Amino acid sequence: MDQPRATWIKDPLGILADGAERGIVVRNGRIVELVPKGGQPTTPAAFFEAGDHVVLPGLINTHHHFYQTLTRALPAALDRELFPWLQALYPVWARLTPEALNLGVTVAMSELLLSGCTTTTDHHYVFPAGLEDAIDIEVAVANRLGVRVLLTRGSMNRSQRDGGLPPDSVVQDEDTILADSERVVARHHQRGEDAMVQIALAPCSPFSVTTSLMRATAALADGLDVRLHTHLAETEDENKFCEQMHGCRPLDYLEQCGWLNARTWLAHGIHFTAVETSGCCPVCDMEEAGVQIGLGVDGSASNDGSNLMQEVRAAFLLQRARYGVGRVSHKDALRWATMGSAACVGRPELGEIAVGKAADLALFKLDELRFSGHGDPLAALVLCGAHRADRVMVGGNWVVTGGAIPGLDMPDLIRRHSAAAHAMQVG
Ligand SMILES: [Zn+2]
Repeated sequence: MDQPRATWIKDPLGILADGAERGIVVRNGRIVELVPKGGQPTTPAAFFEAGDHVVLPGLINTHHHFYQTLTRALPAALDRELFPWLQALYPVWARLTPEALNLGVTVAMSELLLSGCTTTTDHHYVFPAGLEDAIDIEVAVANRLGVRVLLTRGSMNRSQRDGGLPPDSVVQDEDTILADSERVVARHHQRGEDAMVQIALAPCSPFSVTTSLMRATAALADGLDVRLHTHLAETEDENKFCEQMHGCRPLDYLEQCGWLNARTWLAHGIHFTAVETSGCCPVCDMEEAGVQIGLGVDGSASNDGSNLMQEVRAAFLLQRARYGVGRVSHKDALRWATMGSAACVGRPELGEIAVGKAADLALFKLDELRFSGHGDPLAALVLCGAHRADRVMVGGNWVVTGGAIPGLDMPDLIRRHSAAAHAMQVG
Protein backbone atom coordinates (compact mmCIF):
# COMPACT_ATOMS: atom_id res chain seq x y z
CA MET A 1 0.00 0.00 0.00
CA ASP A 2 1.26 3.47 -0.86
CA GLN A 3 2.40 5.63 2.02
CA PRO A 4 0.79 9.07 2.11
CA ARG A 5 3.12 11.58 0.50
CA ALA A 6 5.42 13.40 2.94
CA THR A 7 6.79 16.93 2.53
CA TRP A 8 10.01 18.24 4.00
CA ILE A 9 9.74 21.98 4.80
CA LYS A 10 13.45 22.35 4.16
CA ASP A 11 16.08 24.65 5.66
CA PRO A 12 13.86 27.49 6.91
CA LEU A 13 15.30 30.93 7.51
CA GLY A 14 13.91 30.61 11.05
CA ILE A 15 11.51 28.31 12.89
CA LEU A 16 9.72 28.43 16.25
CA ALA A 17 10.95 25.01 17.44
CA ASP A 18 14.07 23.56 19.00
CA GLY A 19 16.06 20.95 17.08
CA ALA A 20 14.42 21.74 13.73
CA GLU A 21 17.15 23.87 12.15
CA ARG A 22 16.89 21.90 8.88
CA GLY A 23 13.10 21.98 8.99
CA ILE A 24 10.26 19.55 9.56
CA VAL A 25 8.57 16.70 7.72
CA VAL A 26 4.78 16.63 7.47
CA ARG A 27 2.66 13.69 6.36
CA ASN A 28 -1.02 12.90 6.49
CA GLY A 29 -1.85 16.17 8.24
CA ARG A 30 0.69 15.78 11.04
CA ILE A 31 4.26 16.77 11.81
CA VAL A 32 6.17 13.47 11.71
CA GLU A 33 9.79 14.58 12.04
CA LEU A 34 11.99 17.50 13.15
CA VAL A 35 15.24 17.67 11.20
CA PRO A 36 18.12 18.95 13.36
CA LYS A 37 21.23 20.89 12.34
CA GLY A 38 23.39 18.72 10.07
CA GLY A 39 20.63 16.09 9.82
CA GLN A 40 18.60 14.55 7.02
CA PRO A 41 14.99 13.37 7.17
CA THR A 42 14.58 9.65 7.80
CA THR A 43 11.14 9.79 6.15
CA PRO A 44 11.24 9.75 2.33
CA ALA A 45 9.80 13.09 1.34
CA ALA A 46 9.40 15.62 -1.42
CA PHE A 47 10.66 18.99 -0.27
CA PHE A 48 9.51 22.56 -0.12
CA GLU A 49 12.50 24.92 -0.13
CA ALA A 50 11.86 27.27 2.83
CA GLY A 51 15.08 29.25 2.78
CA ASP A 52 13.15 32.52 2.43
CA HIS A 53 10.61 31.68 5.14
CA VAL A 54 10.25 31.96 8.90
CA VAL A 55 8.02 29.09 10.07
CA LEU A 56 5.57 29.44 12.94
CA PRO A 57 2.92 27.10 14.27
CA GLY A 58 -0.32 28.41 12.76
CA LEU A 59 -1.76 31.17 14.94
CA ILE A 60 -5.00 30.43 16.82
CA ASN A 61 -7.68 33.08 17.24
CA THR A 62 -9.65 32.59 20.47
CA HIS A 63 -12.31 35.26 19.98
CA HIS A 64 -14.12 36.95 17.11
CA HIS A 65 -17.51 38.00 15.75
CA PHE A 66 -17.17 37.46 12.02
CA TYR A 67 -20.41 39.23 11.09
CA GLN A 68 -19.02 42.49 12.47
CA THR A 69 -16.77 42.92 9.42
CA LEU A 70 -20.00 44.37 7.96
CA THR A 71 -20.02 47.19 10.53
CA ARG A 72 -16.41 48.33 10.73
CA ALA A 73 -15.75 51.90 11.81
CA LEU A 74 -19.49 52.61 11.97
CA PRO A 75 -19.90 56.37 12.58
CA ALA A 76 -22.72 55.95 15.15
CA ALA A 77 -20.53 53.64 17.26
CA LEU A 78 -17.21 55.49 17.08
CA ASP A 79 -15.61 56.44 20.40
CA ARG A 80 -18.45 54.95 22.46
CA GLU A 81 -18.08 52.95 25.68
CA LEU A 82 -19.28 49.32 25.52
CA PHE A 83 -22.97 49.73 26.44
CA PRO A 84 -23.80 52.74 24.21
CA TRP A 85 -21.60 51.16 21.52
CA LEU A 86 -23.76 48.02 21.62
CA GLN A 87 -26.96 50.09 21.63
CA ALA A 88 -25.78 51.89 18.48
CA LEU A 89 -24.97 48.61 16.73
CA TYR A 90 -27.82 46.24 17.71
CA PRO A 91 -30.38 47.82 15.33
CA VAL A 92 -27.87 47.57 12.46
CA TRP A 93 -27.01 43.96 13.29
CA ALA A 94 -30.76 43.16 13.35
CA ARG A 95 -30.65 43.65 9.55
CA LEU A 96 -28.13 40.84 9.05
CA THR A 97 -29.18 38.44 6.26
CA PRO A 98 -27.85 34.97 5.34
CA GLU A 99 -26.09 36.37 2.22
CA ALA A 100 -24.51 39.23 4.19
CA LEU A 101 -23.34 36.80 6.89
CA ASN A 102 -21.82 34.53 4.24
CA LEU A 103 -19.82 37.49 2.90
CA GLY A 104 -18.88 38.76 6.38
CA VAL A 105 -17.61 35.33 7.43
CA THR A 106 -15.67 34.90 4.18
CA VAL A 107 -13.96 38.26 4.69
CA ALA A 108 -13.09 37.56 8.34
CA MET A 109 -11.74 34.07 7.68
CA SER A 110 -9.75 35.29 4.66
CA GLU A 111 -8.18 38.11 6.65
CA LEU A 112 -7.28 35.65 9.40
CA LEU A 113 -5.75 33.10 7.02
CA LEU A 114 -3.67 35.75 5.28
CA SER A 115 -2.32 36.88 8.67
CA GLY A 116 -1.07 33.35 9.46
CA CYS A 117 -4.06 32.11 11.46
CA THR A 118 -4.91 28.42 10.95
CA THR A 119 -7.57 27.88 13.63
CA THR A 120 -10.23 30.38 14.56
CA THR A 121 -13.15 30.54 16.89
CA ASP A 122 -16.22 32.65 16.22
CA HIS A 123 -18.84 33.89 18.67
CA HIS A 124 -22.09 34.35 16.78
CA TYR A 125 -24.98 35.49 18.99
CA VAL A 126 -27.22 37.58 16.68
CA PHE A 127 -30.15 35.57 15.34
CA PRO A 128 -32.75 37.90 13.77
CA ALA A 129 -35.69 36.20 12.00
CA GLY A 130 -34.48 34.48 8.82
CA LEU A 131 -30.97 33.83 10.12
CA GLU A 132 -31.67 30.56 11.92
CA ASP A 133 -28.95 28.82 9.86
CA ALA A 134 -26.16 31.20 10.86
CA ILE A 135 -23.84 28.49 12.22
CA ASP A 136 -24.48 26.25 9.19
CA ILE A 137 -23.48 29.16 6.93
CA GLU A 138 -20.23 29.61 8.89
CA VAL A 139 -19.40 25.89 8.65
CA ALA A 140 -19.85 25.98 4.87
CA VAL A 141 -17.45 28.93 4.49
CA ALA A 142 -14.84 27.29 6.75
CA ASN A 143 -14.99 24.11 4.68
CA ARG A 144 -14.61 26.11 1.48
CA LEU A 145 -11.53 28.00 2.72
CA GLY A 146 -9.94 25.06 4.56
CA VAL A 147 -9.51 26.84 7.89
CA ARG A 148 -9.89 24.90 11.17
CA VAL A 149 -12.73 26.31 13.29
CA LEU A 150 -14.35 26.21 16.69
CA LEU A 151 -17.65 27.97 16.03
CA THR A 152 -19.81 28.89 18.96
CA ARG A 153 -23.58 28.78 18.99
CA GLY A 154 -24.04 32.07 20.79
CA SER A 155 -27.24 33.37 22.33
CA MET A 156 -29.09 36.34 23.80
CA ASN A 157 -32.46 36.01 25.58
CA ARG A 158 -32.56 39.02 27.92
CA SER A 159 -33.86 41.91 25.78
CA GLN A 160 -34.94 45.42 26.72
CA ARG A 161 -38.29 43.94 27.79
CA ASP A 162 -36.48 42.08 30.62
CA GLY A 163 -34.01 44.78 31.65
CA GLY A 164 -31.32 43.72 29.17
CA LEU A 165 -29.57 45.78 26.49
CA PRO A 166 -30.49 44.18 23.13
CA PRO A 167 -33.74 44.98 21.30
CA ASP A 168 -36.37 42.21 21.11
CA SER A 169 -35.66 41.68 17.39
CA VAL A 170 -32.24 40.05 17.89
CA VAL A 171 -32.95 37.70 20.83
CA GLN A 172 -34.47 34.21 20.95
CA ASP A 173 -36.23 32.29 23.73
CA GLU A 174 -34.43 29.73 25.88
CA ASP A 175 -36.11 26.65 24.39
CA THR A 176 -35.29 27.71 20.82
CA ILE A 177 -31.67 28.42 21.77
CA LEU A 178 -31.12 25.10 23.56
CA ALA A 179 -32.82 23.06 20.82
CA ASP A 180 -30.73 24.70 18.10
CA SER A 181 -27.56 24.27 20.19
CA GLU A 182 -28.22 20.54 20.29
CA ARG A 183 -28.94 20.51 16.56
CA VAL A 184 -25.72 22.26 15.49
CA VAL A 185 -23.56 20.10 17.77
CA ALA A 186 -25.17 16.92 16.40
CA ARG A 187 -24.79 18.12 12.82
CA HIS A 188 -21.34 19.70 12.79
CA HIS A 189 -19.20 18.90 15.84
CA GLN A 190 -16.26 16.63 15.01
CA ARG A 191 -14.32 14.86 17.73
CA GLY A 192 -10.68 13.81 17.86
CA GLU A 193 -7.33 15.43 17.11
CA ASP A 194 -7.92 15.87 13.37
CA ALA A 195 -11.24 17.70 13.80
CA MET A 196 -11.64 20.58 11.34
CA VAL A 197 -15.02 21.82 12.64
CA GLN A 198 -16.04 21.94 16.27
CA ILE A 199 -18.97 23.63 18.00
CA ALA A 200 -19.08 25.25 21.43
CA LEU A 201 -21.93 26.97 23.31
CA ALA A 202 -21.63 30.68 24.09
CA PRO A 203 -24.25 32.87 25.76
CA CYS A 204 -23.23 36.40 24.80
CA SER A 205 -22.60 37.95 28.21
CA PRO A 206 -24.08 38.11 31.70
CA PHE A 207 -26.01 41.26 30.74
CA SER A 208 -27.78 39.82 27.68
CA VAL A 209 -28.68 36.32 28.94
CA THR A 210 -30.87 35.12 31.83
CA THR A 211 -29.44 33.12 34.74
CA SER A 212 -31.66 30.23 33.72
CA LEU A 213 -30.10 30.13 30.24
CA MET A 214 -26.56 30.46 31.66
CA ARG A 215 -27.17 27.41 33.87
CA ALA A 216 -28.98 25.37 31.23
CA THR A 217 -26.22 26.06 28.68
CA ALA A 218 -23.52 24.85 31.08
CA ALA A 219 -25.52 21.68 31.76
CA LEU A 220 -26.07 21.09 28.03
CA ALA A 221 -22.36 21.60 27.24
CA ASP A 222 -21.56 19.05 29.92
CA GLY A 223 -24.07 16.56 28.51
CA LEU A 224 -22.85 17.02 24.92
CA ASP A 225 -19.16 17.24 25.95
CA VAL A 226 -18.48 20.52 24.15
CA ARG A 227 -16.77 23.71 25.29
CA LEU A 228 -18.29 26.86 26.79
CA HIS A 229 -17.45 30.47 26.02
CA THR A 230 -18.60 33.96 26.92
CA HIS A 231 -17.44 37.56 27.34
CA LEU A 232 -16.52 38.36 30.91
CA ALA A 233 -15.23 41.29 32.91
CA GLU A 234 -14.73 43.37 29.79
CA THR A 235 -15.63 46.78 31.22
CA GLU A 236 -16.62 48.57 34.40
CA ASP A 237 -20.17 48.95 32.97
CA GLU A 238 -20.47 45.18 33.02
CA ASN A 239 -19.17 44.89 36.58
CA LYS A 240 -21.73 47.46 37.76
CA PHE A 241 -24.58 45.76 35.90
CA CYS A 242 -23.65 42.41 37.45
CA GLU A 243 -23.44 43.84 40.94
CA GLN A 244 -26.84 45.52 40.57
CA MET A 245 -28.58 42.56 38.93
CA HIS A 246 -26.96 39.65 40.76
CA GLY A 247 -25.27 41.18 43.80
CA CYS A 248 -21.82 39.95 42.84
CA ARG A 249 -18.94 40.47 40.41
CA PRO A 250 -18.98 38.69 37.02
CA LEU A 251 -16.53 35.91 37.93
CA ASP A 252 -18.50 35.02 41.08
CA TYR A 253 -21.69 35.07 39.04
CA LEU A 254 -20.15 32.63 36.57
CA GLU A 255 -19.26 30.29 39.40
CA GLN A 256 -22.84 30.42 40.67
CA CYS A 257 -24.03 29.43 37.18
CA GLY A 258 -21.82 26.32 37.12
CA TRP A 259 -19.36 27.71 34.59
CA LEU A 260 -15.96 27.61 36.27
CA ASN A 261 -14.60 24.33 34.95
CA ALA A 262 -12.14 23.01 32.38
CA ARG A 263 -14.52 23.31 29.41
CA THR A 264 -14.81 27.12 29.68
CA TRP A 265 -12.67 29.78 28.03
CA LEU A 266 -13.40 33.46 28.49
CA ALA A 267 -12.94 36.52 26.32
CA HIS A 268 -11.38 39.63 27.87
CA GLY A 269 -10.96 39.08 31.63
CA ILE A 270 -9.65 42.62 31.93
CA HIS A 271 -11.19 43.31 35.33
CA PHE A 272 -10.55 40.13 37.27
CA THR A 273 -8.43 41.66 39.96
CA ALA A 274 -9.18 44.02 42.82
CA VAL A 275 -7.02 46.66 41.16
CA GLU A 276 -9.08 47.94 38.25
CA THR A 277 -7.03 48.80 35.20
CA SER A 278 -8.73 50.05 32.11
CA GLY A 279 -8.33 47.93 29.03
CA CYS A 280 -5.05 46.08 29.61
CA CYS A 281 -5.23 42.50 30.84
CA PRO A 282 -2.68 41.57 33.56
CA VAL A 283 -1.36 38.68 31.50
CA CYS A 284 1.90 37.86 33.31
CA ASP A 285 0.21 37.74 36.71
CA MET A 286 -2.56 35.53 35.32
CA GLU A 287 -0.09 33.14 33.65
CA GLU A 288 1.86 32.85 36.89
CA ALA A 289 -1.40 32.02 38.68
CA GLY A 290 -1.94 29.15 36.21
CA VAL A 291 -4.42 30.79 33.83
CA GLN A 292 -4.07 29.77 30.17
CA ILE A 293 -3.64 32.91 28.05
CA GLY A 294 -4.58 33.05 24.38
CA LEU A 295 -4.98 35.86 21.86
CA GLY A 296 -8.00 36.93 19.83
CA VAL A 297 -8.75 39.73 17.40
CA ASP A 298 -12.34 40.26 18.70
CA GLY A 299 -15.16 41.47 16.48
CA SER A 300 -14.53 43.84 13.62
CA ALA A 301 -16.93 46.48 14.94
CA SER A 302 -14.47 47.07 17.78
CA ASN A 303 -10.97 46.09 16.59
CA ASP A 304 -11.68 46.63 13.50
CA GLY A 305 -9.27 44.28 11.73
CA SER A 306 -8.97 40.48 11.73
CA ASN A 307 -5.17 40.30 11.51
CA LEU A 308 -3.94 37.99 14.26
CA MET A 309 -0.24 38.60 13.58
CA GLN A 310 -0.77 42.29 14.24
CA GLU A 311 -2.41 41.35 17.55
CA VAL A 312 0.71 39.38 18.52
CA ARG A 313 2.63 42.65 18.22
CA ALA A 314 -0.11 44.61 20.04
CA ALA A 315 -0.09 42.09 22.92
CA PHE A 316 3.71 42.25 23.03
CA LEU A 317 3.71 46.05 23.23
CA LEU A 318 0.83 46.30 25.73
CA GLN A 319 2.29 43.75 28.10
CA ARG A 320 5.75 45.31 27.83
CA ALA A 321 4.20 48.66 28.69
CA ARG A 322 2.66 47.02 31.72
CA TYR A 323 5.47 44.74 32.93
CA GLY A 324 8.66 46.12 31.40
CA VAL A 325 11.19 44.80 28.90
CA GLY A 326 12.73 42.12 31.12
CA ARG A 327 9.49 40.25 31.63
CA VAL A 328 7.95 40.07 28.15
CA SER A 329 9.76 38.85 25.04
CA HIS A 330 8.62 38.26 21.46
CA LYS A 331 8.55 34.54 22.26
CA ASP A 332 6.00 35.15 25.03
CA ALA A 333 3.69 36.92 22.59
CA LEU A 334 4.11 34.15 20.01
CA ARG A 335 3.40 31.53 22.70
CA TRP A 336 0.13 33.27 23.69
CA ALA A 337 -1.07 33.18 20.06
CA THR A 338 -0.14 29.51 19.56
CA MET A 339 0.20 27.10 22.50
CA GLY A 340 -1.69 29.43 24.84
CA SER A 341 -4.62 29.80 22.47
CA ALA A 342 -4.59 26.04 21.78
CA ALA A 343 -4.98 25.36 25.50
CA CYS A 344 -7.83 27.88 25.75
CA VAL A 345 -9.82 26.14 23.03
CA GLY A 346 -9.05 22.62 24.25
CA ARG A 347 -6.86 21.61 21.29
CA PRO A 348 -3.44 20.68 22.74
CA GLU A 349 -2.57 18.92 19.46
CA LEU A 350 -2.41 22.38 17.80
CA GLY A 351 -0.20 25.43 18.31
CA GLU A 352 3.22 23.81 18.46
CA ILE A 353 5.85 22.53 16.06
CA ALA A 354 6.56 19.08 17.51
CA VAL A 355 6.29 15.47 16.35
CA GLY A 356 2.69 14.25 16.42
CA LYS A 357 1.16 17.75 16.35
CA ALA A 358 -1.06 18.96 13.52
CA ALA A 359 0.65 20.24 10.37
CA ASP A 360 -0.81 23.73 10.81
CA LEU A 361 1.89 26.23 9.85
CA ALA A 362 2.33 29.90 8.98
CA LEU A 363 5.32 30.87 6.80
CA PHE A 364 6.42 34.50 6.60
CA LYS A 365 8.94 36.11 4.25
CA LEU A 366 11.23 38.85 5.48
CA ASP A 367 11.76 40.54 2.13
CA GLU A 368 9.75 43.71 2.81
CA LEU A 369 11.30 47.08 3.60
CA ARG A 370 10.18 46.82 7.23
CA PHE A 371 12.47 43.81 7.81
CA SER A 372 15.53 45.07 5.97
CA GLY A 373 18.61 44.79 8.17
CA HIS A 374 17.14 42.31 10.64
CA GLY A 375 19.21 39.90 12.75
CA ASP A 376 17.05 37.30 14.55
CA PRO A 377 14.32 36.25 12.08
CA LEU A 378 11.75 35.21 14.73
CA ALA A 379 12.19 38.40 16.71
CA ALA A 380 11.94 40.40 13.48
CA LEU A 381 8.45 39.04 12.81
CA VAL A 382 7.14 40.60 16.02
CA LEU A 383 9.42 43.59 16.43
CA CYS A 384 9.30 44.81 12.81
CA GLY A 385 5.56 44.20 12.44
CA ALA A 386 4.90 41.20 10.18
CA HIS A 387 1.27 41.24 9.09
CA ARG A 388 0.94 39.01 6.06
CA ALA A 389 1.88 35.34 5.71
CA ASP A 390 3.31 34.16 2.41
CA ARG A 391 2.15 30.58 2.89
CA VAL A 392 -0.24 28.89 5.31
CA MET A 393 -0.79 25.16 5.79
CA VAL A 394 -3.76 23.62 7.61
CA GLY A 395 -3.79 19.89 8.27
CA GLY A 396 -1.03 19.40 5.68
CA ASN A 397 -2.83 21.36 2.93
CA TRP A 398 -1.59 24.69 1.59
CA VAL A 399 -4.49 27.13 1.96
CA VAL A 400 -2.46 30.30 1.32
CA THR A 401 0.25 30.48 -1.33
CA GLY A 402 2.15 33.53 -2.53
CA GLY A 403 0.26 35.68 -0.01
CA ALA A 404 -3.10 34.80 -1.57
CA ILE A 405 -5.96 32.31 -1.14
CA PRO A 406 -6.06 30.07 -4.23
CA GLY A 407 -9.39 30.29 -6.03
CA LEU A 408 -10.66 33.32 -4.12
CA ASP A 409 -11.55 36.33 -6.29
CA MET A 410 -10.57 39.04 -3.81
CA PRO A 411 -11.76 42.14 -5.75
CA ASP A 412 -15.14 40.47 -6.27
CA LEU A 413 -15.37 39.56 -2.56
CA ILE A 414 -14.55 43.13 -1.51
CA ARG A 415 -17.12 44.55 -3.94
CA ARG A 416 -19.94 42.25 -2.78
CA HIS A 417 -19.05 42.52 0.94
CA SER A 418 -18.88 46.33 0.76
CA ALA A 419 -22.30 46.45 -0.94
CA ALA A 420 -23.82 44.19 1.74
CA ALA A 421 -22.25 46.28 4.52
CA HIS A 422 -23.58 49.49 2.97
CA ALA A 423 -27.09 48.01 2.70
CA MET A 424 -27.02 47.03 6.39
CA GLN A 425 -25.59 50.32 7.60
CA VAL A 426 -28.05 52.60 5.82
CA GLY A 427 -31.03 50.31 6.57
ZN1 LIG B 1 -16.25 39.92 21.71
